Amino acid sequence: MRLALDQAGLAVRGGDVPVGAVVLSPDGTTVLGAGHNEREATGDPTAHAEILAIRRAAATLNEAAGAGGRAREWRLTGCTLVVTLEPCTMCAGALVQSRVDRVVYGARDDKAGAAGSLWDVMRDRRLNHRPEVIEGVLAAECARPLTEFFRDR
Ligand SMILES: [Zn+2]
Repeated sequence: MRLALDQAGLAVRGGDVPVGAVVLSPDGTTVLGAGHNEREATGDPTAHAEILAIRRAAATLNEAAGAGGRAREWRLTGCTLVVTLEPCTMCAGALVQSRVDRVVYGARDDKAGAAGSLWDVMRDRRLNHRPEVIEGVLAAECARPLTEFFRDR
């Protein structure tokens, strides 16, 4: 979560909401991908921290596997995504699609959260893949940069 918080700090430079995410390898020792909100910086409406982190993690795994004519692997099976803020509906959906095993988040998002607050997309029993969700890790620390960001606006 500390690494995700470092990422959140980078978002502010581009004028973006301070949310950061990292994807950890199945053994938990390696950061496969990291990201922070870049919507303002890039003009991409889907550039949320989680989306960028899972894209980069998949790219890292593909790079490690080498091209070699093999089919590309998009599944992040066994991996854990750690994010400072509760995922929105788009990110919760993408996390289900990515097949991560675990999602850990810090602060709750009462306005847009889709991992227990407004919706609970990733634990919807109608889905055939449901990541384990762990919430409230360093919640106060994760909420602080958000509160400061919106106070300054
Ligand atoms: Zn999102």
